[in-house]
Amino acid sequence: MEIKIVKTTTPKEKPAANALGFGKYFTDHMFVMDYSVEKGWHDARIIPYGPFEFEPSCMVFHYGQSIFEGLKAYKGADGGVLLYRPYENMKRMNRSNDRLCIPQIDEDFAVDAIRQLVLLDKDWIPEGEGTSLYIRPFVFGTDNALGVHPSHTYKFIVILSPVGSYYAGGLSPVKIWVESEYVRAVRGGIGAAKTAGNYAASLKAQEVAEKKGYSQVLWLDGVEQKYVEEVGAMNIFFKIGGEVVTPVLNGSILGGITRDSVIEVLRGSGYKVTERKISIDEVHEAYKNGKLEEVFGTGTAAVISPVGELCYKGEKMVINNNEIGEVSQMLYDTITGMQKGAIEDKYNFTYK
Ligand code: PMP
Repeated sequence: MEIKIVKTTTPKEKPAANALGFGKYFTDHMFVMDYSVEKGWHDARIIPYGPFEFEPSCMVFHYGQSIFEGLKAYKGADGGVLLYRPYENMKRMNRSNDRLCIPQIDEDFAVDAIRQLVLLDKDWIPEGEGTSLYIRPFVFGTDNALGVHPSHTYKFIVILSPVGSYYAGGLSPVKIWVESEYVRAVRGGIGAAKTAGNYAASLKAQEVAEKKGYSQVLWLDGVEQKYVEEVGAMNIFFKIGGEVVTPVLNGSILGGITRDSVIEVLRGSGYKVTERKISIDEVHEAYKNGKLEEVFGTGTAAVISPVGELCYKGEKMVINNNEIGEVSQMLYDTITGMQKGAIEDKYNFTYK
């Protein structure tokens, strides 16, 4: 399918590098494609970024049939543009689509659409330390009808946002609240899909944790609230007695692309990594015995977030003296180095 391109006649002014933040500015263009039962996915186009009109009955407003993705583009050391594992994001997008009864999207076509869009807006890719162009693909049901059933029409849109460094002053440890009241996802539910409802479900606990001075919530399983699942927008790793462990993907955790990269890089660097169930009591026990050496989160936004403190049922566990652990630092340097083309990518993660 050919992508029709309509360029803007009124390019916007680009924000100053120090004003970027996250998700505040959007580039000049967006990719849009429509779905109908009769035509399948059709009318692929890159057009000026701008608003849509939807009827109040538009299904997504009522029943939340929507999914999204998040990945980044970087300006490479040689001036070329690098995407980080875009095929993995498109595969996950289709797994989310499947779970939400949204029709599949050709993954090669979607990566090519992203490629064309990013190249058209490549002057928006910031170049400062830790900055990147965040890519947000999303899909939602657009039927004008009430009644709970899958929509017959959809839109697939990709927008781009230049984002600043997550850690303005360099990597620094975050404080995490272990949530023991609210839950995010349950077995058989939608936790493994990147769908709006999971984020809606997370807001209340996040708000409460922030008021207490914690930056994110660590979710426990939705049945017994005993096993560690993931952080608000990150997967979680523990280094206990020399071994790196992370919760196994059990159907209620989002399988992060950074998580997958971290496992590969650690194994490639000679570390033992185990994916298994980890109870919060085991983490606490390891802490008491002095065996909890490092804790870190992994996700597209920050890449690696060292955890300096976990608070569970009122007890504060200070990890590694609230300092950046050596595994966290190595992973951060390795993955961000590959993302920007500054070090050799022996894992073939980047796409030029
Ligand atoms: N879990 C959740 C709930 C997330 O929103 C994210 C961010 N996409 C992650 C984990 C990390 O995934 P990734 O490494 O693909 O960004």
